[in-house]
Amino acid sequence: MLAERMKSLAPSSTLAVQAKAKELRARGVNVISFGAGEPDFDTPERIKDAAIQAMRRGQTKYTEVGGIPELKAALCTKFQRDNDLHYEPSEVMVSVGGKHTLFNLFTATLDPGDEVLVPSPYWVSYPEQVKLVGGVPVAVTTDEATGFDLDLDRLRAAVTPHTKIVVVNSPNNPTGAIFSRTALEAIARLAIERDLLVVSDECYEPMTYEGRHFSIAQLGPEIKARTLIVNTCSKAYAMTGWRICVMPKGAFYVFPNVSGLFGRRAPAAGGVPAKTLSGSTDVTEFLLTDAKVAVVPGVDFGSDAHVRLSYATSAELIRQGLEGMAAALKLLS
Ligand code: PLP
Repeated sequence: MLAERMKSLAPSSTLAVQAKAKELRARGVNVISFGAGEPDFDTPERIKDAAIQAMRRGQTKYTEVGGIPELKAALCTKFQRDNDLHYEPSEVMVSVGGKHTLFNLFTATLDPGDEVLVPSPYWVSYPEQVKLVGGVPVAVTTDEATGFDLDLDRLRAAVTPHTKIVVVNSPNNPTGAIFSRTALEAIARLAIERDLLVVSDECYEPMTYEGRHFSIAQLGPEIKARTLIVNTCSKAYAMTGWRICVMPKGAFYVFPNVSGLFGRRAPAAGGVPAKTLSGSTDVTEFLLTDAKVAVVPGVDFGSDAHVRLSYATSAELIRQGLEGMAAALKLLS
């Protein structure tokens, strides 16, 4: 019953090895694992404590989709401090982890048939994710003899009219390479010349053993504007099992039919002109303006005759909200 696209997917060999090692350990076999791409020390106590405190304060609810403003501001500070890069909060996004960010990114940028240059050896998930969204991963070999630095001639030769993205992963998984400044400059020139996006996966930034990490986005505004930097807390802070925005299971919604209100006229209020209600979005706006009650238009869920009310709040607030709506409905002519 699986979708066709799933059939082309290779399972993650790193996770498979990890699972196998765990299984053997459970059977009493003393396996030393060099398989998993995760530090074997625990998440530092101060990070755990901060998370526990935040949960105790009630920070367990849905957040803004792209991340809470405080976190986005902290990420901008990090870019300025560590990378001399200035980003506005509107230019950064938080998602569930590096892997999820990459998936979102490929989903958002690739049309079927678009090609993605992936310097090889590569982290296992890039080609699979690209394939999953209908793109074509193009492996471009790097050589052991050069310390697996990017091979510019090969990259240049691999660009076709269908190429959309070049993936740069430095420090690199699995080779441990750090791409040279010369190679990054050449990639930047190529990307600008051929109108490519650069996905710069900098997950291993803090594990730079010689000198300071250098991001391709630091090579100037032109390349910064076409570079998407991906980063994560997983590796630097031993937080591989931590994922952001857990979805609650179960539901707490009512979905009343509001089409009986269509054709009724809402009075002008709070700068909003008088309006005849003709769909769930109008009803939502009316309820927000006149009843100060926020509901979601059903049209976004596939039915314009309904609105969605999420009632996971106190009985008192539910009562106040319903009274407010009842009073507002009387204003309709
Ligand atoms: N990018 C690279 C190069 C990785 O090696 C990994 C994890 O192994 C990730 C991204 C995924 O990071 P996360 O744990 O945040 O999903």
